[in-house]
Parts: sequence; C-alpha cells; structure tokens
Amino acid sequence: MKYLIDTQKVSLSHINIIKHYSVVDYMSIDINSRRNLELTETLREKSKKGSLLWVLDKTSTAMGARQLRRWIEEPLIDENSIKGRLGAVEELTANISIHEDLKASLKQIYDIERLVGKISTQSVNAKEFIFLKNSIEKLPGVKVILEKFNCELLRKIHSNLDDLKDIQVLLDNALLEAPSLSIKEGNIIRDGYNEEIDELRKAKSHGKEWIASLENQEREVTNIKSLKIGYNRIFGYYIEVTKSNISMIPEGRYIRKQTLANCERYITEDLKNMEEKILGADEKLVNLEYELFVKLRDEISLHIDRMKGSAKLLSELDCLSSFATVSLENSYCKPEISVSGPINIKDGRHPVVENMLSFGDFVANDTKLNTTDEQLILITGPNMAGKSTYMRQVALIVIMAQVGCFVPAKNAKISICDKIFTRIGASDDLAAGKSTFMVEMSEVSNILKNATPNSLIILDEVGRGTSTYDGLSIAWSVVEYICTNKKIRCKTLFATHYHELTSLEGVIDGLKNYSVAVKQIKDDIVFLRKIVKGGADQSYGIEVAKLAGLPLKVTKRAKEILEHLENENNNEIAAEKITGEKTKKSDKSKTKIVSDSVQIGFNDIGKENFIKEICEIDVMSMTPLESMNKIFQLITNAKKLQ
Ligand code: ATP
Repeated sequence: MKYLIDTQKVSLSHINIIKHYSVVDYMSIDINSRRNLELTETLREKSKKGSLLWVLDKTSTAMGARQLRRWIEEPLIDENSIKGRLGAVEELTANISIHEDLKASLKQIYDIERLVGKISTQSVNAKEFIFLKNSIEKLPGVKVILEKFNCELLRKIHSNLDDLKDIQVLLDNALLEAPSLSIKEGNIIRDGYNEEIDELRKAKSHGKEWIASLENQEREVTNIKSLKIGYNRIFGYYIEVTKSNISMIPEGRYIRKQTLANCERYITEDLKNMEEKILGADEKLVNLEYELFVKLRDEISLHIDRMKGSAKLLSELDCLSSFATVSLENSYCKPEISVSGPINIKDGRHPVVENMLSFGDFVANDTKLNTTDEQLILITGPNMAGKSTYMRQVALIVIMAQVGCFVPAKNAKISICDKIFTRIGASDDLAAGKSTFMVEMSEVSNILKNATPNSLIILDEVGRGTSTYDGLSIAWSVVEYICTNKKIRCKTLFATHYHELTSLEGVIDGLKNYSVAVKQIKDDIVFLRKIVKGGADQSYGIEVAKLAGLPLKVTKRAKEILEHLENENNNEIAAEKITGEKTKKSDKSKTKIVSDSVQIGFNDIGKENFIKEICEIDVMSMTPLESMNKIFQLITNAKKLQ
C-alpha cells in the first residue's frame, strides 16, 4: 500500500481488501504456453482476433469482457466450481428466450466496475452518475429473470445480487436527467432537491425575462425594429443598434460601450444592475451545485463495496451468458468432468481454426489419452497436415472445459489437469540472450522439471532446432523420460518429424503412434486432416514446399538431392543406438537411426573429453599415490576408447 500511495498519488480508498491469490486454486499455465496457445492474443500480431478469447467473447458488458479474460487466464481445478459453471451454462442454453431477455438487460448496463473506480478516485462526473443510475435501474429486471433458473450458481447470483435501490433513489432525486459534463459549470442538480438552488434559479430566470421586456420597450421608444440585446463574456449584456439607425437614438439614452464595423453597442445603468444580479446568481448557483455534487459523491462512496459486489456478480453472469451463446452458436457440448481418469474427446474441433474456415470445412478428430496404455501419443505426418492444430485443439478443449464453457466436440470426458505445458513453434528471445534452440531447450527443461502426473504436455517437434542427430537423440530421450519417470508419466501429445521414434511403440509402455492421413496423387498430396492410428513414413516436405510456391527448379532439384541422400543413407545406415535398460530386456536394443555423415560420433566426443582430462591434470599438486591412481584411471579410460 505504501508503494501505491507513493507512486500513484491518488486516493486508494477503492482498495478495501487485499486478498491472497493462491496459484493452487487455478490451472497453472506458464507464460510460454499461454502465448503458444493464443489464449487472449495471437502469437504474431498480438491481436485479440484469432485468439480463444475472441471466439468466446460474446459478453454484453465491458466488465463482463474483462472478467472473461481473467477466467480464460485462470482455468479452475476444483471439480465443484467447474461443474457449477457448466450447470449454469447448460441451463442458459436450454432456455433460449429467457437467456435472450437476460442478454438484453445486461446490454443496457454500463461499466459499473469502472464507475466505482472513478467514484473512489473522485474523478466521476454527473453524467457518469446518470449512467450508474440507469444501470442500477436494470438490476431488479435482472433479478426477476434470474428467479426463473434453478441451478445452484444462478440461484446464488440471484440471492447475492444487491439491487442498490437506495443508491438509485439518491441519484435520481439529486441529479438532472441530462446534466452538464463539467461539475464546475452548474446545470447538475435537479429542481426541488435544494431550496437555495431553486431560489437562485428563479432569480436568474426573472432577470432574463426582465431583459427580454427591456428589449421590447427600447424598440418601441426608439422605433428601431432591429434593436436587440445581446450578451458576451467580455462585455456582458449590451444593446446593439446598426449604424444606419444610430441617429434615431434619443440624446443621452444610452452609454456607448463598443464600436463594430456595422453597429454600435450600448449599455444603460439599469441593464448593468440587472446583469450583476443575473451573473451573481449564476456564480452562486455554480458553486452551490458543485458543493452539493461533492456531498452526493461522498455519500455514494460509502457504498462502494456493495456496488463492487454487484458489479462482480453481473460480470460473472455475463461470462456465463457469453459461454452459453458461443456454445449454442457453435454446437459445443457439455463436457463430463472428473478428478482423475482419461481424456476422451469424440469429434473434437479447434475452436479458433474452425471459426476461420467455412462452415463444415474443419475435420473433427477424436482423442484418447490416459496414464496407462495411451499416455504419450506420438504424432507423425507431413508438414501442413494439421499436427499442431490437433494438439492445440486438445489443450484448448481442456482449458475451455476447466473454465466452465462447453467444448467443440460431439462429446467429451475431461479429467482435470493441474498444469498444461506446451512447447510449440520456433521463437527466440534474443533480447534475453537466448537463441532459438536455447529457448526451446529451456522450455523443455521447465516442463520436465515441473510436470506432474495430472498435467497435460504438448510437445511439437522437440529437437528440430539443432542438427538431425542431436535433435533426434534429445527427442528420443525426452519421450523416454516422460514415459518412465514416475513423477511425470502424464498425458502427453508429441508431434515429430523424426519417424525413427515410431519404433518405440511397444517398447515404451503407454506410447502410441498416430499420424495425420494424406493421400498422394502422383507428385501432389491431398491433406485429409484425419488423425489415424499408426506412424507416418514420410514428411512430404518437398510437396508442401511446392504448394507454398517455391520455384519449380528448386523443388525439382531438392527431389534429386533427396533421392541421392536416401540412396547414400541406405548404404550407410550405421549408427546403432542402445535405447536403455528396458529396451534391452524387450530385445529391441538395436534400433536404427539414419546417420548424418557430417555428425561426429559419440566416440569422437569421448576422445576429445579424454584429451581435455589429461590437459587438466596438475601433477605438481598431487601426491605420488594420487598420481598413480590417476594414471590407472586414465589407462582404463583409454582402453574404452580404443
Ligand atoms: P508443420 O509440421 O509444417 O508444422 P502441421 O502438421 O503442424 O504442420 P498445422 O500447422 O497444424 O500443420 O496445420 C496447417 C493448416 O491446416 C492449419 O493452418 C489449418 O488451416 C489446416 N488444418 C489443420 N487441421 C485441420 C482440420 N482438422 N480441419 C481442417 N483444416 C485443418
């Protein structure tokens, strides 16, 4: 609070409680995963359009829109709270016409939350108070609509929603329906609210009538039809006569004040006296109205907590209503939630991609994930086939379910995830001194250190940021680690172009191969977008490059090079890799890896390390016995390297 007082330099009376935010109450999604999954903004353009928030935001109020953003950023992990939201969404979708009435009422409600902030920082004006009053007037209507629902959450909102009637009466009695914007120019307070104001207003209007009759009287006396009385801020009230009529003014009747190109302006003693009265009343009115406004503002600020409470409930109601609207519009289904068990999705769709495509163009896919026989789904398939889309779709469906929204699927069973991790796409953080590969590895390392058996991991092409041999080895060992480490063994989707990894099915428990189907017609491929069992055998990279418009000469030459390399590799397949204890037992110890002729082998690395070790020996600081032991150890190591 001291920091805020020092830095913000405004009243902090609106901060009335400091609450403890516990991360254990929400699904944990690290910053990279948030970005990768494009929850509230897209990765590239940083725009809302194209994000999950964009699809789900059908809110009717500004405060609802802000609340929805918070909800999406903080998916729940408590089973009952999730089910509570889903129950409310279900009831709203089942009662379309009542829901429409509710939306119509919410649409007329102004941003109460923001107004309350302005009241506490004393920056609210009378017009905003009228918005507040008009919004509060809608609350009884909202309560009547809410009465028609039976689910627990909507009933709770109904009974806790304070309709703030007393505040509405206060504002209604005090303020004009269309007050002026500035609180220091008067024209704010309603007639009948304060006697003194009424009297000053009477005096002011009486003065104006007097001036109107003076104008008539002077026209008659002087016989100048065009004579008029005007007012400006500098000279006050004046009598204006055009140049051609000046001779008709009786001698000594007026005092000359100002000469313009085609007229003269005059004043009289009486006119100036009346001016003083009118302007005096005006000034008093402005001051008094300001004083009364400040008093009203102070009185209203005593109820800030109540208004905040109502604003919060309304914004939550707005979010639930938004979920119901998108769920109906996009044919989402209510997910079945459980604390543990599998994730089974039938005909799942990507909520954002399907919105971008024409109706019916998105190909739905099933997902089965558990912690036993389908724990790590290894997805292979050509570039552009839809691997990333599919994996993100699963993560987004889980997040949507835990946020309390229906999900894009025919039906879905979702077991609650405590954390979601993703490692998708290439990104670098050069400013923080990290290369693309370094970023990738830091993200993978974060995942392996923090995932739990209840987490969901999405890994897309781990290892592609380095050379083939290194990349494959890293990907391989990450798969093994996730599947064998008891502290993790969580539901995982792993997309890769290293087809060699498909040989791990049957070797590593829980790993299952899937691929994205394509049809090859001569040199072209057709994407079927269907996830099917079994691994893929090719990447069709050159065909996809052709589709992307790479010059024909380049793709043709690439094909020639590919054929040449493949022939060479077939003759040279050499490297054999031991896949670990478990693999040995199941007699699959030797799995072939395509060798990379440019790579140095493990033996070379060993020799380099050996030389380094010798160079680092400091003989002068060793005892004879230590030297003997060191020589013995070096000989043993050298024998291994032979
Ligand atoms: P790469 O291996 O090159 O990264 P990928 O296999 O990950 O490719 P995606 O980026 O997921 O491919 O998908 C490419 C495009 O295919 C998407 O932008 C989307 O327009 C389309 N697409 C993906 N999945 C589907 C689907 N199920 N139905 C219809 N279109 C899809």
